[in-house]
Amino acid sequence: MGEGTESAGHWAAPDLGDVVVGRGALLARVGEIGAAITRDYAGRPPLLVGVLKGALNFMADLMRSIELPVEVDFMAVSSYGAATKTSGVVRIVKDLDVDLAGRDVIIIEDVVDSGLTLNYLRQYLGARHPASLEVCALLLKEGEQRVAQPLKYVGFTIGPAFVVGYGLDVNERYRNLDAIYTFVGEP
Ligand code: 5GP
Repeated sequence: MGEGTESAGHWAAPDLGDVVVGRGALLARVGEIGAAITRDYAGRPPLLVGVLKGALNFMADLMRSIELPVEVDFMAVSSYGAATKTSGVVRIVKDLDVDLAGRDVIIIEDVVDSGLTLNYLRQYLGARHPASLEVCALLLKEGEQRVAQPLKYVGFTIGPAFVVGYGLDVNERYRNLDAIYTFVGEP
């Protein structure tokens, strides 16, 4: 997954370590997931629920690779805790605008680490009576998820290091990098 040469995060040095997922691998995998969703949801176009802000770039690329009349909405959540660790206590900053009742919903997440954020979201959205509720996560962190998650689509399984880029931030910076890097600076 290396592909350091195709990514241009020089302006963010020295905060960046290795390329974890390069631009080419990201686009190829997102295209595959889009094709899978196109197949799996033929005849019942899903509602994609993006979790802001981290899923911004993933959502933008993924929705364009799905050949169905999908609808898109966003939630914004913030998790209390230190900059690079989640506390599992989630605050809804922006709720959905659309009704989920009877809809086939796919939650579009950036990264699943402990699984606590997603667990909260599943319960929160599941209570609104969707016809189905699945999860599409770009990144799954290796190791014990504290909450086991049925993830229908996963882009890449990565190591435990904190990563930035392609929507993922540290203190709101580095979302605009076009690949995913380990963060080695001071949070
Ligand atoms: P979880 O609740 O699964 O432990 O963490 C999920 C949330 O924590 C993600 O949606 C993301 O906002 C944040 N997060 C977890 N790992 C990382 C990481 O490596 N980099 C960044 N930027 N955010 C992360």
